[in-house]
Amino acid sequence: MFKTETFSPEETFHLGEKIGEQAKPGDLYTLIGDLGVGKTVLTQGIARGLGIKEPISSPTFTIVQIYEEGRMPFYHFDVYRIGDVEEMEEIGYEDYFYGKGLTMIEWANLIEEILPEQYREIRIEKDLEQGFDYRRITIREVTG
Ligand code: ADP
Ligand code: MG
Repeated sequence: MFKTETFSPEETFHLGEKIGEQAKPGDLYTLIGDLGVGKTVLTQGIARGLGIKEPISSPTFTIVQIYEEGRMPFYHFDVYRIGDVEEMEEIGYEDYFYGKGLTMIEWANLIEEILPEQYREIRIEKDLEQGFDYRRITIREVTG
């Protein structure tokens, strides 16, 4: 378990950058946190760390957005609007989850039954007592 705190969007971006730099092909991260907590900021950092220069947006209407220009492919899922896990099968999610890139899944709790045995969960939380720009970020290894 890795715990850290950030005090600005730049710091969260930088943490993402380090995750992207250290990523290995086939890594899978889930990303959990309320609206406006900094999931996109962190994801943009990860993309930068992978060497992706094009801007990252939230893939809300597409389920998965694929970026090929970095050190390895980046598969950015947002499954918030998914109705059924079958939709994941239709888009061939296994090619991504078990592929040669880095997979990041927002709202992964909605597709828990098809998550692999092993992945890392990133949780971002606010704590307003610590200030408006404070974020607690926890990265946890999930096995089995
Ligand atoms: P989400 O994708 O989780 O809905 P965004 O990343 O789009 O959230 O937005 C996070 C917002 O919070 C941005 O406006 C960002 O500037 C702001 N912010 C303030 N402090 C932080 C911090 N420590 N880390 C990340 N974002 C922060
Ligand atoms: Mg977002």
